[in-house]
Amino acid sequence: MTQQTTGFFPALARMERQFPPLARTREPFWRPQIPAPARDILVPAWNWRSIHECPEGARLLSLDANAAYIGAAGGVKVAHSHLTPTGGIDLPAPRDVLPGYYRVTVPYWAFSATLVHPLGNSTRVETETDVWIAAPTLVLLLELLEEGAIAELTILDSWTAQAHTTFRAWVDHLKGIRRDLMDAQHQAHPDGDRPADCECVPCTRLAEFKLGYSAAWSMMLTGERCKTRRPDWAHTVYAQHAATMWRKAWRYTATGCPVIAMGHTDEITVMEADLPEVMARPKPPFRIDATGYAIGALKPKSVEVATAEHTAGPTALYDDTDTGDLI
Ligand SMILES: [Zn+2]
Repeated sequence: MTQQTTGFFPALARMERQFPPLARTREPFWRPQIPAPARDILVPAWNWRSIHECPEGARLLSLDANAAYIGAAGGVKVAHSHLTPTGGIDLPAPRDVLPGYYRVTVPYWAFSATLVHPLGNSTRVETETDVWIAAPTLVLLLELLEEGAIAELTILDSWTAQAHTTFRAWVDHLKGIRRDLMDAQHQAHPDGDRPADCECVPCTRLAEFKLGYSAAWSMMLTGERCKTRRPDWAHTVYAQHAATMWRKAWRYTATGCPVIAMGHTDEITVMEADLPEVMARPKPPFRIDATGYAIGALKPKSVEVATAEHTAGPTALYDDTDTGDLI
């Protein structure tokens, strides 16, 4: 079958058949027993608006990440074998965190007026004293502990793997395909002016690629219709993506300019007027690439003009039905 006839790019099958995450030459465990914490994991997510008062008429610019999951998948360590119970442990250095799941105490977040809690704003974060998180979320919390942004953290329990691997070969392959598809789309629409639901061949191929790529994570989560059943891999990538986006917003607030809102895990809203000065600094908080090519960079998505409603307090700016451009 080809992608033209299926309407779906077989991203996960490419990994399984051509680019498995090896340890030396050994293939990974494709369907190990599902570790118990996989059913209870908290992947940080948010739909958050700051209490910062925007002047009426201010332009609020929402930015979202290009190919966020490809970027996240390219940078993570994942378990090669199965995870095993490793119990409560001392806090490791961020770089020494093994792939897996960790049950940690929910840290107090003193900067809630400035930015959403690093574990997100689900009710679990407010009501539970400890939660299971994936390794990339632990790395973020350990970094915040080192910075002094959180005061206390305890690892109460863990399931980890010593042997780890990466998705690098597969991700490099996907990056190449994405670049070619974007080149083709650019040739079809050289002035960048295309309808959001354009049905020309290059636009369709790119949409199929995004669909297939995003499906790879939900498929490996359940193990249905594929060889891979590794919820821990999917959780690792989701958690890495969330941590990466949260860090961008955190660095932005360090410039002294406010983050106005964060939505859908991959959107950051700021005051448009602040951006030129922030991005001109020697160390800007993130990259901006409006072409969409640079993976992990942000691109402007939409502008809203602040109304009296926006100045009224923490109401959601977002409509939850839009899943954003995560891939
Ligand atoms: Zn098109």
